[in-house]
Amino acid sequence: MKISGLNLILMGPPGAGKGTQSELIVSKYNIVHLSTGDMFREAYKNKTKTGLLAHEFTSKGQLVPDDVTIALVKERLLQDDCKNGYLLDGFPRTIEQAEALDEFTNSISSPISKVIALDADYNELVKRITSRRVCPVCGASYNLFTKRPLVEGVCDHCQSKLVQRDDDTEAKLHTRLEAYEKQTKPLLDYYAKKGLLVKVDGLQEIEKVFADIAGVLGE
Ligand code: ADP
Ligand code: ADP
Ligand code: ZN
Repeated sequence: MKISGLNLILMGPPGAGKGTQSELIVSKYNIVHLSTGDMFREAYKNKTKTGLLAHEFTSKGQLVPDDVTIALVKERLLQDDCKNGYLLDGFPRTIEQAEALDEFTNSISSPISKVIALDADYNELVKRITSRRVCPVCGASYNLFTKRPLVEGVCDHCQSKLVQRDDDTEAKLHTRLEAYEKQTKPLLDYYAKKGLLVKVDGLQEIEKVFADIAGVLGE
């Protein structure tokens, strides 16, 4: 496998804007979007073994076990379209996942270029998550207040009917934020020590957040 262009990680708590910024980043930089959340939802929709197992955890707002998640991501990263660069959205979320990713990227001599960490405060995350609506077909993410579709309740890209994710309730968000604090936040230090971490203020408007990210990544 040849050494790739841009291999990115986008981190942040639920609602920080990972999915929204991912869409903009992959289209500007022409790299593949790999969202573990989307992969688990797709696998569940297709009732695969991994999908059914993962749903036992995602439906409670808990992280899917590392071995399952790591195997899924590794298999995906080995596919041809990842050779020219990729954006990992929502992976890694634990130190064990980060170490497995390091081992993998070392083995193919294609290191991570940068880790972008988005953040926003608790009240804003609750507001964003409870007003998020998603397209069950193409995965596009909308918001009742800040990112309304052109036609109410309908996906701009594929015209499917928008839905609310079953884990986007305030109660489950609480569990997800706890998982972020305990299991994922230590990764900020992990990547800072490697000199890869860039923090971006996710509280700003969508376009401003993207301008900051593009400023970091360059043309
Ligand atoms: P994540 O993937 O990190 O959970 P999303 O990108 O799905 O987050 O964003 C969560 C919700 O907040 C969505 O409804 C999205 O439209 C909205 N949103 C995303 N970024 C912003 C922003 N900068 N300002 C206001 N709302 C935003
Ligand atoms: P969010 O918008 O909250 O950031 P995602 O769509 O990225 O949510 O993830 C949805 C759910 O999928 C998570 O709450 C978790 O159960 C599971 N999941 C996603 N990525 C991972 C991961 N890297 N490790 C473990 N579980 C994950
Ligand atoms: Zn759609």
